[in-house]
Amino acid sequence: MKLTRHIFFYKGEDIIPLFGLTSSNTYIIRGERLTIVDPGAGVGPHLRRVEAAMKHDRLRFDNIMKVILTHAHPDHAQSLRAIRGRLVAQIYCHPLEKDILENPGLLWDREYERMGPFAREVMMLPRPWIQWLARVMFGPMVPVSGDIVAVRHGAALNLGASARVVELPGHRPGEIGIHMPDDNALIIGDLINYKMYDIPSVNMPESDLRQAMASIRLIRELDVETLAPAHDYPLTGRMKIREWLDDTLARCGRMIDQAAQALAAKPGIPLPRLGAMLAAGNAHINFFQRRMLAFNALKALEPEDRLSKEDHE
Ligand SMILES: [Zn+2]
Repeated sequence: MKLTRHIFFYKGEDIIPLFGLTSSNTYIIRGERLTIVDPGAGVGPHLRRVEAAMKHDRLRFDNIMKVILTHAHPDHAQSLRAIRGRLVAQIYCHPLEKDILENPGLLWDREYERMGPFAREVMMLPRPWIQWLARVMFGPMVPVSGDIVAVRHGAALNLGASARVVELPGHRPGEIGIHMPDDNALIIGDLINYKMYDIPSVNMPESDLRQAMASIRLIRELDVETLAPAHDYPLTGRMKIREWLDDTLARCGRMIDQAAQALAAKPGIPLPRLGAMLAAGNAHINFFQRRMLAFNALKALEPEDRLSKEDHE
Protein backbone atom coordinates (compact mmCIF):
# COMPACT_ATOMS: atom_id res chain seq x y z
CA MET A 1 0.00 0.00 0.00
CA LYS A 2 1.04 3.58 -0.63
CA LEU A 3 2.47 5.11 2.53
CA THR A 4 3.77 8.50 1.41
CA ARG A 5 4.34 10.27 -1.90
CA HIS A 6 7.21 7.98 -2.91
CA ILE A 7 7.09 5.11 -0.39
CA PHE A 8 5.01 1.92 -0.55
CA PHE A 9 4.72 -0.42 2.42
CA TYR A 10 4.47 -4.24 2.42
CA LYS A 11 4.09 -5.99 5.76
CA GLY A 12 6.40 -8.89 6.69
CA GLU A 13 4.74 -12.22 7.55
CA ASP A 14 5.29 -14.39 10.60
CA ILE A 15 8.04 -16.97 10.21
CA ILE A 16 7.75 -18.59 13.64
CA PRO A 17 5.06 -16.73 15.60
CA LEU A 18 6.02 -18.44 18.87
CA PHE A 19 9.42 -16.74 18.88
CA GLY A 20 8.03 -13.50 17.49
CA LEU A 21 10.03 -14.09 14.31
CA THR A 22 8.72 -12.33 11.23
CA SER A 23 10.13 -11.46 7.85
CA SER A 24 11.10 -7.81 7.73
CA ASN A 25 8.66 -5.37 6.18
CA THR A 26 9.57 -4.34 2.66
CA TYR A 27 9.39 -0.77 1.39
CA ILE A 28 9.42 0.23 -2.27
CA ILE A 29 10.57 3.72 -3.14
CA ARG A 30 9.16 4.96 -6.43
CA GLY A 31 11.29 7.43 -8.33
CA GLU A 32 11.74 7.13 -12.07
CA ARG A 33 12.60 3.49 -11.39
CA LEU A 34 12.04 1.47 -8.23
CA THR A 35 14.16 0.78 -5.17
CA ILE A 36 13.41 -2.09 -2.81
CA VAL A 37 14.33 -1.65 0.86
CA ASP A 38 14.81 -4.89 2.86
CA PRO A 39 13.46 -7.54 0.45
CA GLY A 40 12.89 -9.84 3.46
CA ALA A 41 13.28 -13.44 4.57
CA GLY A 42 14.33 -16.11 2.10
CA VAL A 43 12.05 -18.81 3.48
CA GLY A 44 8.29 -18.38 3.25
CA PRO A 45 6.11 -16.46 0.85
CA HIS A 46 7.19 -12.87 1.62
CA LEU A 47 8.82 -11.84 -1.66
CA ARG A 48 6.08 -13.50 -3.77
CA ARG A 49 3.45 -11.64 -1.77
CA VAL A 50 5.34 -8.36 -2.16
CA GLU A 51 5.42 -8.84 -5.91
CA ALA A 52 1.68 -9.63 -6.06
CA ALA A 53 0.85 -6.62 -3.88
CA MET A 54 3.10 -4.40 -6.01
CA LYS A 55 1.05 -5.35 -9.08
CA HIS A 56 -2.02 -4.19 -7.23
CA ASP A 57 -0.27 -0.85 -6.62
CA ARG A 58 0.70 -0.71 -10.32
CA LEU A 59 4.40 -1.20 -9.60
CA ARG A 60 6.43 -3.57 -11.76
CA PHE A 61 8.85 -5.80 -9.90
CA ASP A 62 11.08 -5.86 -12.99
CA ASN A 63 11.52 -2.09 -12.66
CA ILE A 64 13.54 -2.47 -9.44
CA MET A 65 17.01 -1.07 -10.05
CA LYS A 66 18.35 -0.75 -6.51
CA VAL A 67 18.25 -2.71 -3.28
CA ILE A 68 18.91 -1.00 0.05
CA LEU A 69 19.50 -3.12 3.13
CA THR A 70 19.01 -1.44 6.49
CA HIS A 71 21.29 -4.23 7.75
CA ALA A 72 22.33 -7.75 6.78
CA HIS A 73 20.20 -9.88 9.15
CA PRO A 74 18.65 -12.81 7.24
CA ASP A 75 15.03 -11.79 7.88
CA HIS A 76 15.84 -8.63 5.85
CA ALA A 77 18.42 -9.81 3.37
CA GLN A 78 18.04 -13.50 2.70
CA SER A 79 15.69 -13.07 -0.28
CA LEU A 80 18.48 -11.14 -1.99
CA ARG A 81 19.43 -14.36 -3.74
CA ALA A 82 15.98 -14.69 -5.33
CA ILE A 83 16.11 -11.04 -6.42
CA ARG A 84 19.52 -11.37 -7.95
CA GLY A 85 18.35 -14.37 -9.94
CA ARG A 86 15.87 -12.07 -11.68
CA LEU A 87 17.20 -8.53 -11.65
CA VAL A 88 20.45 -6.70 -12.21
CA ALA A 89 20.13 -4.47 -9.18
CA GLN A 90 22.80 -2.60 -7.28
CA ILE A 91 22.89 -3.23 -3.51
CA TYR A 92 23.47 -0.45 -0.96
CA CYS A 93 24.32 -0.96 2.70
CA HIS A 94 26.73 0.14 5.45
CA PRO A 95 30.36 -1.08 5.12
CA LEU A 96 30.02 -3.27 8.25
CA GLU A 97 26.99 -5.00 6.74
CA LYS A 98 28.74 -5.34 3.37
CA ASP A 99 31.37 -7.40 5.20
CA ILE A 100 28.62 -9.70 6.49
CA LEU A 101 26.99 -10.09 3.06
CA GLU A 102 30.31 -11.02 1.52
CA ASN A 103 31.29 -13.31 4.38
CA PRO A 104 28.18 -14.43 6.32
CA GLY A 105 30.22 -16.49 8.80
CA LEU A 106 31.47 -13.20 10.28
CA LEU A 107 28.04 -12.48 11.75
CA TRP A 108 28.13 -15.33 14.25
CA ASP A 109 31.89 -14.96 14.82
CA ARG A 110 31.39 -11.35 15.90
CA GLU A 111 28.29 -12.05 17.97
CA TYR A 112 30.13 -14.81 19.87
CA GLU A 113 33.24 -12.69 20.29
CA ARG A 114 31.06 -9.97 21.83
CA MET A 115 29.43 -12.42 24.28
CA GLY A 116 32.70 -13.96 25.44
CA PRO A 117 32.11 -15.99 28.62
CA PHE A 118 28.40 -14.98 28.65
CA ALA A 119 27.70 -16.96 25.45
CA ARG A 120 26.06 -19.98 27.05
CA GLU A 121 23.96 -17.97 29.47
CA VAL A 122 22.74 -15.65 26.71
CA MET A 123 22.12 -18.20 23.96
CA MET A 124 21.14 -21.17 26.20
CA LEU A 125 22.21 -23.72 23.54
CA PRO A 126 25.67 -24.60 22.16
CA ARG A 127 26.78 -22.57 19.13
CA PRO A 128 26.35 -25.34 16.49
CA TRP A 129 22.72 -25.79 17.59
CA ILE A 130 22.06 -22.08 17.39
CA GLN A 131 23.53 -21.87 13.90
CA TRP A 132 21.54 -24.93 12.82
CA LEU A 133 18.33 -23.34 14.14
CA ALA A 134 19.12 -20.10 12.29
CA ARG A 135 19.62 -22.10 9.07
CA VAL A 136 16.28 -23.87 9.54
CA MET A 137 14.48 -20.61 10.26
CA PHE A 138 16.06 -18.38 7.63
CA GLY A 139 17.74 -20.67 5.10
CA PRO A 140 21.49 -21.04 4.50
CA MET A 141 23.65 -17.90 4.54
CA VAL A 142 25.24 -17.69 1.11
CA PRO A 143 27.88 -15.04 0.37
CA VAL A 144 26.76 -12.19 -1.89
CA SER A 145 29.45 -10.72 -4.06
CA GLY A 146 29.95 -7.90 -6.54
CA ASP A 147 28.05 -4.69 -7.02
CA ILE A 148 27.58 -3.85 -3.34
CA VAL A 149 27.94 -0.13 -2.67
CA ALA A 150 28.94 0.79 0.89
CA VAL A 151 27.26 3.99 2.08
CA ARG A 152 27.82 6.11 5.19
CA HIS A 153 25.92 8.76 7.12
CA GLY A 154 24.77 11.69 4.99
CA ALA A 155 25.25 10.00 1.63
CA ALA A 156 22.72 11.18 -0.92
CA LEU A 157 20.93 8.27 -2.59
CA ASN A 158 19.97 8.85 -6.17
CA LEU A 159 16.52 7.24 -6.07
CA GLY A 160 14.53 9.74 -8.12
CA ALA A 161 13.20 11.23 -4.87
CA SER A 162 15.27 13.10 -2.29
CA ALA A 163 16.80 10.55 0.08
CA ARG A 164 19.87 10.34 2.26
CA VAL A 165 21.48 7.77 4.50
CA VAL A 166 21.19 8.11 8.28
CA GLU A 167 23.35 5.81 10.37
CA LEU A 168 21.27 4.33 13.20
CA PRO A 169 23.43 1.90 15.21
CA GLY A 170 21.85 0.24 18.25
CA HIS A 171 20.32 -3.00 16.98
CA ARG A 172 23.20 -3.63 14.55
CA PRO A 173 26.42 -1.60 14.45
CA GLY A 174 25.95 -1.08 10.70
CA GLU A 175 22.26 -0.24 10.64
CA ILE A 176 21.19 2.54 8.28
CA GLY A 177 17.94 4.40 7.86
CA ILE A 178 16.71 6.37 4.86
CA HIS A 179 15.54 9.92 5.43
CA MET A 180 13.22 11.27 2.73
CA PRO A 181 12.64 14.97 3.43
CA ASP A 182 10.11 15.53 0.61
CA ASP A 183 8.01 12.70 2.05
CA ASN A 184 8.65 13.82 5.62
CA ALA A 185 9.46 10.19 6.31
CA LEU A 186 12.21 8.04 7.75
CA ILE A 187 12.78 4.32 7.24
CA ILE A 188 14.51 3.04 10.39
CA GLY A 189 15.17 -0.70 10.04
CA ASP A 190 15.22 -2.63 13.33
CA LEU A 191 16.29 0.13 15.72
CA ILE A 192 12.83 0.25 17.32
CA ASN A 193 9.40 -0.98 16.41
CA TYR A 194 6.09 0.09 17.75
CA LYS A 195 5.05 -3.39 18.85
CA MET A 196 7.87 -3.58 21.38
CA TYR A 197 6.73 -0.13 22.40
CA ASP A 198 9.25 1.56 24.67
CA ILE A 199 12.18 -0.89 24.48
CA PRO A 200 14.49 -0.60 21.44
CA SER A 201 15.52 -3.78 19.59
CA VAL A 202 18.75 -4.35 21.51
CA ASN A 203 18.16 -8.07 21.02
CA MET A 204 21.50 -9.32 19.67
CA PRO A 205 24.93 -9.51 21.32
CA GLU A 206 26.29 -6.83 19.00
CA SER A 207 23.39 -4.53 19.85
CA ASP A 208 24.25 -1.46 21.92
CA LEU A 209 21.81 0.28 24.23
CA ARG A 210 23.71 3.58 24.47
CA GLN A 211 24.13 3.75 20.71
CA ALA A 212 20.41 2.99 20.34
CA MET A 213 19.64 5.95 22.61
CA ALA A 214 21.86 8.24 20.51
CA SER A 215 20.15 7.01 17.33
CA ILE A 216 16.70 7.60 18.84
CA ARG A 217 17.73 11.17 19.73
CA LEU A 218 18.85 11.67 16.14
CA ILE A 219 15.51 10.41 14.83
CA ARG A 220 13.74 12.76 17.20
CA GLU A 221 15.66 15.73 15.78
CA LEU A 222 14.56 14.84 12.24
CA ASP A 223 10.99 15.38 13.43
CA VAL A 224 9.27 13.41 10.66
CA GLU A 225 5.60 12.79 10.02
CA THR A 226 6.03 9.09 9.12
CA LEU A 227 8.32 6.59 10.82
CA ALA A 228 8.72 3.33 8.94
CA PRO A 229 10.16 0.42 10.96
CA ALA A 230 11.18 -2.98 9.58
CA HIS A 231 8.71 -4.91 11.75
CA ASP A 232 5.17 -4.11 12.80
CA TYR A 233 3.39 -1.09 11.25
CA PRO A 234 4.57 2.40 10.32
CA LEU A 235 3.68 5.18 12.69
CA THR A 236 2.33 8.53 11.49
CA GLY A 237 1.85 11.86 13.23
CA ARG A 238 4.62 14.12 14.53
CA MET A 239 3.33 14.40 18.08
CA LYS A 240 2.65 10.69 18.40
CA ILE A 241 6.13 9.85 17.12
CA ARG A 242 7.77 12.36 19.45
CA GLU A 243 5.86 11.01 22.43
CA TRP A 244 6.83 7.45 21.57
CA LEU A 245 10.51 8.32 21.19
CA ASP A 246 10.49 10.24 24.49
CA ASP A 247 8.89 7.27 26.26
CA THR A 248 11.52 4.97 24.77
CA LEU A 249 14.42 7.21 25.83
CA ALA A 250 13.03 7.46 29.35
CA ARG A 251 12.64 3.69 29.54
CA CYS A 252 16.24 3.18 28.32
CA GLY A 253 17.54 5.50 31.05
CA ARG A 254 15.48 3.68 33.67
CA MET A 255 16.73 0.28 32.47
CA ILE A 256 20.36 1.35 32.80
CA ASP A 257 19.70 2.63 36.35
CA GLN A 258 17.83 -0.55 37.27
CA ALA A 259 20.65 -2.73 35.95
CA ALA A 260 23.21 -0.73 37.95
CA GLN A 261 21.16 -1.10 41.14
CA ALA A 262 20.51 -4.81 40.57
CA LEU A 263 24.18 -5.44 39.93
CA ALA A 264 25.22 -3.51 43.03
CA ALA A 265 22.78 -5.55 45.15
CA LYS A 266 23.76 -8.90 43.61
CA PRO A 267 26.94 -8.89 41.48
CA GLY A 268 26.26 -12.30 39.89
CA ILE A 269 22.58 -11.70 39.12
CA PRO A 270 21.42 -14.30 36.52
CA LEU A 271 20.53 -12.81 33.12
CA PRO A 272 16.94 -14.22 33.04
CA ARG A 273 16.19 -12.55 36.37
CA LEU A 274 17.70 -9.22 35.38
CA GLY A 275 15.93 -9.46 32.00
CA ALA A 276 12.55 -10.11 33.63
CA MET A 277 13.12 -7.09 35.86
CA LEU A 278 14.04 -4.80 32.96
CA ALA A 279 11.25 -5.99 30.65
CA ALA A 280 8.57 -5.87 33.37
CA GLY A 281 5.28 -4.60 32.00
CA ASN A 282 6.28 -5.23 28.38
CA ALA A 283 4.71 -8.53 27.29
CA HIS A 284 6.33 -8.45 23.85
CA ILE A 285 9.84 -9.14 25.11
CA ASN A 286 10.06 -12.96 25.06
CA PHE A 287 12.26 -15.17 27.27
CA PHE A 288 15.13 -15.11 24.78
CA GLN A 289 14.98 -11.35 24.24
CA ARG A 290 14.97 -10.82 27.99
CA ARG A 291 18.38 -12.47 28.25
CA MET A 292 19.67 -10.29 25.42
CA LEU A 293 18.19 -7.21 27.02
CA ALA A 294 19.89 -8.02 30.32
CA PHE A 295 23.20 -8.68 28.57
CA ASN A 296 22.95 -5.38 26.71
CA ALA A 297 22.01 -3.46 29.84
CA LEU A 298 25.12 -4.87 31.54
CA LYS A 299 27.22 -3.84 28.54
CA ALA A 300 25.81 -0.33 28.86
CA LEU A 301 27.28 -0.19 32.37
CA GLU A 302 30.82 -0.82 31.14
CA PRO A 303 33.01 2.28 31.06
CA GLU A 304 32.03 3.83 27.75
CA ASP A 305 35.41 4.49 26.26
CA ARG A 306 37.46 1.86 28.01
CA LEU A 307 38.94 0.60 24.75
CA SER A 308 39.86 3.98 23.37
CA LYS A 309 41.36 4.96 26.75
CA GLU A 310 43.56 1.89 26.70
CA ASP A 311 44.68 2.87 23.23
CA HIS A 312 45.78 6.27 24.51
CA GLU A 313 47.65 5.06 27.57
ZN1 LIG B 1 17.82 -7.30 12.59
